[in-house]
Amino acid sequence: MWYINEDRQLMLNVARDFVEKEVKPAAMEIDKTSRFPMELFKRAGELGFLGITISEEFGGLGGDHTTLALILEEIAKSLPVLTVAMGAHSLLAGGLLNMLGTPEQKKKYLVPAVSGDIIMACGNTEASGGANYPEHTTRAVLEGEEWVINGGKVLISNIGVADVYIVLALTSEQLTPADRAGMSAFIIEAGTPGFDVGIPEHKLGWHGSATGSISFKNCRIPKENLLGPLGGCLQAMFVSATDEFLSCGPVGLGIAEGAYEMAFKYSLDRVQCGQSMFDRFQVTRHKLVKMYTEIESLRALVYSTYAMKDQGDLCLASGRMLKCKGAEVSEYVGREAIQLFGGVGTIVDTGVERFWRDAKVLAIGGASVESLTDNIATLIKNNMI
Ligand SMILES: Cc1cc2nc3c(=O)[nH]c(=O)nc-3n(C[C@H](O)[C@H](O)[C@H](O)COP(=O)(O)OP(=O)(O)OC[C@H]3O[C@@H](n4cnc5c(N)ncnc54)[C@H](O)[C@@H]3O)c2cc1C
Repeated sequence: MWYINEDRQLMLNVARDFVEKEVKPAAMEIDKTSRFPMELFKRAGELGFLGITISEEFGGLGGDHTTLALILEEIAKSLPVLTVAMGAHSLLAGGLLNMLGTPEQKKKYLVPAVSGDIIMACGNTEASGGANYPEHTTRAVLEGEEWVINGGKVLISNIGVADVYIVLALTSEQLTPADRAGMSAFIIEAGTPGFDVGIPEHKLGWHGSATGSISFKNCRIPKENLLGPLGGCLQAMFVSATDEFLSCGPVGLGIAEGAYEMAFKYSLDRVQCGQSMFDRFQVTRHKLVKMYTEIESLRALVYSTYAMKDQGDLCLASGRMLKCKGAEVSEYVGREAIQLFGGVGTIVDTGVERFWRDAKVLAIGGASVESLTDNIATLIKNNMI
């Protein structure tokens, strides 16, 4: 492949070994029990996967984005939810911390996050809507040397297991919707009085990613836990969250490959009237070819976009496109894979339908593809493609 070089191949080998020996054997059990894959997350930290692109000064590998994409793709082929937990930690929460944090904040939180010694979560979405910032109500007020936070967030990944939460809250004086652009980010440690964590929801997919609510009732945190500029968080989030949207490209690719590989093998193994399904039915062969073509188209888009990212492009529009395309292709391939399995494809123990379930959630979790498409339209109109 044109995007593999010696360094990337070395990291890919590490990822393949990890997946083969540790991730694959645990995948079905994690999907069925919905337990957070703690031991795999910690191993990802030990192997350097939680800080591929973070500078060496803060414990990262100082590597490139393409290497990260290769690792995410490899893991997603077997256990997509592990990449989700990693993404909420390293890209959503970690991305904002890396972009906005002071050197002291990074030493205190980013360094242990990169090694996997602490887990992070990012709380943005509220009950009024994920992208609907004008109606968000979580509010932080400065009282002396402390911020006092009240409000709540919903659908937050890594709840309960996270040690540190990066949370967005209103800090503007005005409370009318038009003035609510004043949104700031805060670092909140688990266990802070007034900070409550809910119970993980039962979800369609992403089993094990511990998604649920968090709430704040007169929760007091030190003044220095403000992350970044007062009132400037939304603009920063628009840029830093792009890395999470980008990651849905390789994650979607891995999901699609995982489902395709199972369906291809099944169509060769399942025999009727002395012939495999692959040999017997043209429709089976054509479905597989179409799935393969979609996968290779996505691969081309993923690695060309990551090449741009490695050259310093922010990928504001193309990153959002990757999330949309990654979700679309993985959903399509996952759905067709179930179809090619026939009845047994609907049985959880077969292990193929979980790819479709995880792909479906990919189109919503973190940001809906529709809201991102709207973002892309604005970027195109402003010639920011
Ligand atoms: C499994 C999972 C994990 C998640 N993890 C996190 C997390 O770690 N941190 C976090 O902060 N959030 C997280 N979320 C929340 C996620 O970001 C939101 O669900 C998402 O942004 C959509 O918001 P909503 O659910 O409030 O839907 P709504 O805002 O009610 O939207 C419903 C639908 O309306 C359409 N729509 C909404 N807004 C627009 C728009 N602007 N343009 C066009 N169409 C639109 C879309 O079709 C959308 O799906 C997670 C969600 C899930 C499901």
